Amino acid sequence: MSAPADLLLRTGPKAAEEVVDTYRELAGPVVEKVRDADFRTQWQAMADLGVLRLAAADDTGPGPVTRSLAMIEGIGLAGADPGICYALASQVFGMQFPLRAALAEDAWRAIAEVQDGGTLLCHALTERSGGSDPFSMRTRARREGDVFVLDGAKTFITAAPVADRAIVFARTGEGRSPFALSAFLFPLDIPGVVRAESFTKTALPSVPMGELVFEGARLPAGSLIGDEGSGLAVMASTTAWERAVILGYALGPMRRTLRRIVEWAAGRDHFGRRMGASHQVASRVSEMALALHRSRVQLYAMAALLDAGTPARQLAAEAALTKISVSEDYVRLTEHATALSGVRAFIADSELPADLHSPMAALTYAGPNDLLRVGIARQFGLPVEN
Ligand SMILES: Cc1cc2nc3c(=O)[nH]c(=O)nc-3n(C[C@H](O)[C@H](O)[C@H](O)COP(=O)(O)OP(=O)(O)OC[C@H]3O[C@@H](n4cnc5c(N)ncnc54)[C@H](O)[C@@H]3O)c2cc1C
Repeated sequence: MSAPADLLLRTGPKAAEEVVDTYRELAGPVVEKVRDADFRTQWQAMADLGVLRLAAADDTGPGPVTRSLAMIEGIGLAGADPGICYALASQVFGMQFPLRAALAEDAWRAIAEVQDGGTLLCHALTERSGGSDPFSMRTRARREGDVFVLDGAKTFITAAPVADRAIVFARTGEGRSPFALSAFLFPLDIPGVVRAESFTKTALPSVPMGELVFEGARLPAGSLIGDEGSGLAVMASTTAWERAVILGYALGPMRRTLRRIVEWAAGRDHFGRRMGASHQVASRVSEMALALHRSRVQLYAMAALLDAGTPARQLAAEAALTKISVSEDYVRLTEHATALSGVRAFIADSELPADLHSPMAALTYAGPNDLLRVGIARQFGLPVEN
């Protein structure tokens, strides 16, 4: 893409743009080296670049959230597999930041090695009976002295087949009381934890997904996050974090797609003229730029709010709006790219293969968009229930 067009996309804070550029350059050769490696090798290679490392709030440069967002955008721009970018964003924003905020200093220090990549986390909420309604969960933790014993199963969990530790939500009370759920963080190599089925995904296929079954698993003392009964509050925090910034993973892939399509339209001849000379083609390219622009502005705005110390739970509505907007713009951008690529969109080893499944999956995870819309309308005072 020519320099002026690239400048149009420089919508992040200046210090963040420097991080994006640094990580694009740093990651380039690493991405090439590990392109065909397994998930864990690619994960470790990105962790070795520092992508999982949370900056301290008083470090110079952009705030910690903005910095993480820019690092993930940078490696995506360098061509890192979108699935790896997704998994990194999921752990950094949906787990590490909320845990650092929720855990006492010594508890966070005890798991801080997750930032080196050697220990991988997963976030286990969904069950076979449904993911949208947390109160439908059947996984149960019963107290025995100062430990909890866990029974049940969590299904469709990103990274479950390879994770070392899990954040697991379980029922410690009855019914739909806001205090009926609790959250736990514990290692997965304890007796009573079984890694059951693995799922072959059509979206983000490079990231493993699986099921965790708990059969009388005695959780180590200290596994409870917060207080017994505070699971819904923990979940409100992890999901608000996710909704606010997880789709930052898509910025690098979106920019790469736009660049490829611009080059394609600029260089290909159609009907005796350049394809890009068609107003309809130009219009689709502009729509792609708009989708990317809206997404960048919103994601960096959310990062700035979080960096300013706004508690994630207070940003629930803005986070939901951002998640809906960016996920739908990611789908839209990919649809335009697919239309402009012709048959090549459907040829796996062409120069323009399309992947619509991965953007479409973003409409579902971190809260299905339809249900997020219901929550937003409720915030405006409409008497609408899920
Ligand atoms: C790529 C990917 C990664 C994932 N990773 C994880 C993970 O790491 N951890 C985890 O816990 N889960 C994960 N999930 C699961 C995800 O969180 C759930 O899919 C999601 O919460 C929805 O749950 P469900 O699929 O059971 O859909 P359901 O709850 O069965 O809902 C299905 C659909 O029905 C519609 N619907 C249902 N009820 C209503 C209503 N009242 N009003 C309007 N529409 C309604 C919605 O459109 C919804 O999408 C992942 C999913 C995907 C696709």
